[in-house]
Amino acid sequence: LVMPLGQLIGSYTQLQTGLGALARVQEVLALEPEHDEVPERPVAGRSPVVLRTPTGADPVPLLQLDGVGFGYPDGTAVLHDVSFAVPAGSRVALVGPSGAGKSTVLALVEGFYPLSAGAVRWAGTDVRELPRAALRARMGYVEQEAPVLAGTVRENLLLAAPDAGEEQLWQALSDVGLTGVVQRSARGLDVAVGDDGVLLSGGERQRLAIARSLLARPALLLLDEPTASLDARNEGLLRDTLAAAAADRALLVVAHRLSTVIDSDQIVVLDAGRVVAVGTHADLVDTSPLYRELATAQLLV
Ligand code: ADP
Ligand code: MG
Repeated sequence: LVMPLGQLIGSYTQLQTGLGALARVQEVLALEPEHDEVPERPVAGRSPVVLRTPTGADPVPLLQLDGVGFGYPDGTAVLHDVSFAVPAGSRVALVGPSGAGKSTVLALVEGFYPLSAGAVRWAGTDVRELPRAALRARMGYVEQEAPVLAGTVRENLLLAAPDAGEEQLWQALSDVGLTGVVQRSARGLDVAVGDDGVLLSGGERQRLAIARSLLARPALLLLDEPTASLDARNEGLLRDTLAAAAADRALLVVAHRLSTVIDSDQIVVLDAGRVVAVGTHADLVDTSPLYRELATAQLLV
């Protein structure tokens, strides 16, 4: 009787994890504003919506926030007149004190909430006029809190790239510094993630989610605080990975640690929901007192 009972408890834990993930998915779906739904198929009398994805040479930015204002449904005003652009193939960083509204910006780009002012544009077109599913398919989003993952490491990676070969999967793990963790398990790529497999820390789960996002090769990758819980060695590794990834895609990275984003093409400084400065690290150290303060606190100037 002991064995089956143990298995039963194991299954129950799995079920709980699954239900937690499902609840989160439902939560996100519930957040989708209905007016944002644009039919994927052409409607009679209307020309079909074409989702254009600019390349590096295109003068139209891949993503643009234009005077974005936003408050959460509970009434808290969070963003005021936020404007900045992410050109195709560029790396843009979003920095600022905790509570400034950085994660909220990414949530709005993902379309989780309706704006109260302004627009988010993809290749110059207001995203409210574009099919949401097609848009999401071109964006990868790795949230700040440790993502909930179920299944095996292999299943997680194949979700993004069903045709990826063995070598590609190991390369993806190596890119985010997870090779060692997975190799330590006798089951290799087929080790389960979670209570009954390798126990991944929050940061490791986030890195697995980053590896998965990179395998999907999105045109735009949104990362929220990818290095918050990393040691210096893994931070350097992830920084190299992101630099390589940026060669053929755009990155919008929220960063607590400025060393992660010091070589970004543009750094947007957000304070209390407003853009207070935009520039390179060298520009901002000269022109933005808030940026200089953040950089000084982290011994970068
Ligand atoms: P950051 O990522 O820069 O630390 P956030 O975007 O998470 O900042 O939060 C900005 C502000 O919005 C904070 O005052 C925070 O308390 C508030 N906030 C964040 N998420 C929610 C939410 N789901 N509902 C209500 N207020 C929120
Ligand atoms: Mg945040």
